[in-house]
Amino acid sequence: MSPPTTKTRIATIWLDGCSGCHMSLLDIDARLAAVAGSIDLVFSPLVDTRTYPQNVDVCFIEGAASSGEDVEKLHLIRRNTRQVVAFGDCAVTGNVPGMRNRFALREVLTRSYLENATHQPRIPDRDIPHLFERVRPVHAFIDVEMFLPGCPPAADAIFEVLSALLEGRPPDLAGRARFG
Ligand code: SF4
Repeated sequence: MSPPTTKTRIATIWLDGCSGCHMSLLDIDARLAAVAGSIDLVFSPLVDTRTYPQNVDVCFIEGAASSGEDVEKLHLIRRNTRQVVAFGDCAVTGNVPGMRNRFALREVLTRSYLENATHQPRIPDRDIPHLFERVRPVHAFIDVEMFLPGCPPAADAIFEVLSALLEGRPPDLAGRARFG
């Protein structure tokens, strides 16, 4: 059971992404201090929490999904989160990880682990998540309340979404958000 709090409980996670969206989140810089008193960062690569908690208000999900492990995480998040934000182009469309969808998975693995290997070429067959044939965006697996495009989204756009969520109003992303 989570302790009672009046702060907005925020989570962030990255699936198949490059962490660039999280770097852009940090680019909010000093403005983060302005909202720090209103939020509780309960789960994130930026904090040392291992287990996704209950009663999360908002989760920013960076990256697409390409494995059963990713999908398990998405369902865990959905069960325990009021509002989910597809955070960045990879989460919204598949974007960079989705570029492999033009090829069969076997071709991708062969290229990565055999043809481009300089030492002990071998396709790993254990201890790693089983990859799906296709990479898909977050909303292919769970409902999403908000889409925040950008590769990465601009810090201004992220701050606007964060501010809007804290103030309980729709975000105004006009002129702040775009794909790419
Ligand atoms: S949207 Fe761009 S910056 Fe964000 S994880 Fe994908 S590739 Fe990286």
